[in-house]
Amino acid sequence: MRLADRYSNVQPSGMIKIFQAVEKMDGVLNLSIGEPDFDTEHDIIDAASASGKGGFTHYPPLSGFPDVRKAVCDYWKRHHALECTPDEVLLTAGGIQAPFLAMQALLNPGDEIILIEPFFTPYTGHAATSGGAVVRVETKEENGFAPTAADLEKAITPRSRLLLLNSPCNPTGRVVPRERLEEIAAIAKKHDLFVLSDEIYEALVYKGVHVPLATLPGMKERVLTMGGMSKSHCMTGWRVGYAIGPTELIKTMTLIMANQTYGLNTMAQKASAYALASHDVKLIERKKIFTERMNYVAGRLNRMKNITCAQAEGAFYLFPNIKGTGLKSEEFVWKLLERSRVAALPGSAFGNSGEGYIRIACTRSMDVLAQAMDKMEAFCSSI
Ligand code: PLP
Repeated sequence: MRLADRYSNVQPSGMIKIFQAVEKMDGVLNLSIGEPDFDTEHDIIDAASASGKGGFTHYPPLSGFPDVRKAVCDYWKRHHALECTPDEVLLTAGGIQAPFLAMQALLNPGDEIILIEPFFTPYTGHAATSGGAVVRVETKEENGFAPTAADLEKAITPRSRLLLLNSPCNPTGRVVPRERLEEIAAIAKKHDLFVLSDEIYEALVYKGVHVPLATLPGMKERVLTMGGMSKSHCMTGWRVGYAIGPTELIKTMTLIMANQTYGLNTMAQKASAYALASHDVKLIERKKIFTERMNYVAGRLNRMKNITCAQAEGAFYLFPNIKGTGLKSEEFVWKLLERSRVAALPGSAFGNSGEGYIRIACTRSMDVLAQAMDKMEAFCSSI
């Protein structure tokens, strides 16, 4: 088979290699999964079914039904004081489609997009297909894995066009504090950068509050806020995400999307509108469960030999420092998987700044987390 040159060398990422290994093994306590373990609530499924029975089985409007886009606006206003109108919203096929469409719409070949390490790896694939050049900014644990103004200034060149920010962050679970966001906003304005702000974990913040970058003064016109139903409403399988931004950009992204998916599944849209409008109490309940799990796991990790772990801030990830073990993060996770049947992801899979860390997803029950921590504790004592 002669594949296109640009894809002929594609290799599974460090993350996918672990997923594939886990699939072939029995009895693994799997802490590598980036999705809530809770099923979608049944009333949300009922809302989808009712919409289908009510005739919503045809092609949807390209950017999404107006009432669903309005539900996105109401949710963001109610939770995060972000004001927007439905024509500033595009519904996308999962949160993952939004950065892809945005990069297609905004990058000319050779334009630079700044990615802050460690980062969600699909962004590099999106940048590659748009012809954009990735400029990586390394970050440090002592700065909460957020870039300092100096780090960002060093990365800026005359070709800089976009900055991608992800807070709460996958993989670090860190939340960029308001003061740091203000510095980032000042740099974006100074250098005329447009910012893709991936805020898909907005509902899962345990320390402080989530501040959408677009709510900072003068930022709304230079930010695309990206979110979705996957993490907040336990709807990963429904593949519903959205982007909120300037109408000109939203219109262009809609036309690009028309060639790919021609709009988003109608029943999933209607179920999402229902979920956004009526599940605030559930969000609080789940956040409480994640808080308990994350605090428990962070506490256990900090008592393990040669491991330190910052307190939970956001998302459902912890990013413990394993440097004291003397193992590289790949080596650590593969040994942990083979000897103890506990799966985690190597920090290095998310960029150089992740070397010396592993990602633990607290997306399993307390019982599973406790068993996994017992095994990991024994593993750390043995190396
Ligand atoms: N952005 C980040 C930072 C993520 O971690 C994920 C999923 O893990 C996504 C986007 C994509 O979410 P979705 O499943 O809605 O496509």
